[in-house]
Amino acid sequence: SNSDILLNVNGIEVIYNHVILVLKGVSLQVREGSVVALLGGNGAGKTTTLRAVSNLLAGERGAVTKGSIELRGERIDKLSTADLVGRGVIQVMEGRHCFAHLSIEENLLTGAYTRRDGKAAVAATLEKVYNYFPRLRDRRATQAAYTSGGEQQMCAIGRALMAKPKMVLLDEPSMGLAPQIALEVFEIVKDLNQREGVTFLLAEQNTHMALRYADYGYILENGRVVMDGAASLLSENEDVKEFYLGMG
Ligand code: ATP
Repeated sequence: SNSDILLNVNGIEVIYNHVILVLKGVSLQVREGSVVALLGGNGAGKTTTLRAVSNLLAGERGAVTKGSIELRGERIDKLSTADLVGRGVIQVMEGRHCFAHLSIEENLLTGAYTRRDGKAAVAATLEKVYNYFPRLRDRRATQAAYTSGGEQQMCAIGRALMAKPKMVLLDEPSMGLAPQIALEVFEIVKDLNQREGVTFLLAEQNTHMALRYADYGYILENGRVVMDGAASLLSENEDVKEFYLGMG
C-alpha cells in the first residue's frame, strides 16, 4: 500500500554548476522499516541521489531542477538539512567525516545536538549505541584521528543514531574497509533496522554485500534507474550477475 512509503523520490533531475545534468529523472520509494540499496558503478549518481534527499547539494553547487521528494507524503525538497534532521532524516556522508581531533564519545555526542529531551535521554541513547558498537565503547576516549577506518565508519553511523533517526541515508558504508569489517558494519545496520525500526537508504558499490542485507535495490547507470526489485530477485538476475556481481 502507499501508506507505508516513507520516502518517495519522484522523477528528480539534478544539475551541477548550472550545466552538468547528472540525474536524469530518478524515481524510487523506500518503505517504512526497510533497507533499500542504491547500486551502480562509479559516477552513476548514487551519492547525488542521497544528497538530493538530504538537501546537501547546494554546497556542491548542485540543484534539483525537476521532480519532487516526499517524506510520508509531505514535500521535503525545499527543507533545509537541519529541518530534515528535525524530521528524523540523517545522512552519513561518504568518507565518514568524523571530527579528527574529538574523541569517539565527543563525536557521538555531537549527533545529539538537536535533541531537546534532556541529558538522561541522551545518555541512554549513548549507552545503546555502545551496545550496538562495542568497539566504540572500547575506543570512547580515543581521538577519532587515531582510530581505524572501520571504527570511524561505526562512529559516523553511531553519531547519526544519537539523533534518534527514522531514516538514515548511508553513503558507501563499505568503502575502504576490509571485507570482514564491512560485514560487521552491515550486520549492525541490519540489527538496527530489525530491532530499532530504523529505515535505511544506502548507496553501495559492493553489490554483493548490499544485496545480502537489503530488502530492495535500485540500480543506477548514468543518472537513471535501469533496474529495481527485491534484493533476492536482483541477486538472481542474470544481468545483475554479469555486470555487478562478477560472475557472468
Ligand atoms: P561514486 O561512488 O563515485 O560517488 P556515485 O554513483 O555516487 O559514484 P555521484 O557522486 O553521484 O556518483 O556522481 C555522479 C556524477 O556527477 C559523476 O559524473 C560526477 O563526476 C558528477 N559530480 C558529482 N559531484 C559533482 C560536483 N560537485 N560538481 C560537478 N559534477 C559532480
